This record gives sequence, C-alpha cells and structure tokens, in this order.
Amino acid sequence: MAKVAPYHTTSNENYPPTHRDVHHDHDDCKYGKDIKPWHRVSGTGNKPRCKECERLG
Ligand SMILES: [Zn+2]
Repeated sequence: MAKVAPYHTTSNENYPPTHRDVHHDHDDCKYGKDIKPWHRVSGTGNKPRCKECERLG
C-alpha cells in the first residue's frame, strides 16, 4: 500500500463516477485498479480526490 502520483481517466468507457469523476493517488484503490493502464492520464484533472483513496490514506 503506497501513495502514487495522481492519475485520472478521461475515458467514459464502462467507468462509473466513482472511477471517472475523481482522481486517484493510491496504488491499492479498488476503483483505480479497475482503470485500464491505457485509460490512465497523469495528474488530477482538476477532479476531487477519490473517497476510497482518501480512506486508504
Ligand atoms: Zn481511488
């Protein structure tokens, strides 16, 4: 479990808001893990932080 550089996705492909409307910064986030590597974009994308990432710290 570790923090990683923030990433988000701009893909609408099959991703619910928990995945798409936020940015992730934890490598153990179950939502972030669902995002395919090729759908990941570096940075926060000006989106709020994922609740699951927040919970994981
Ligand atoms: Zn997350």
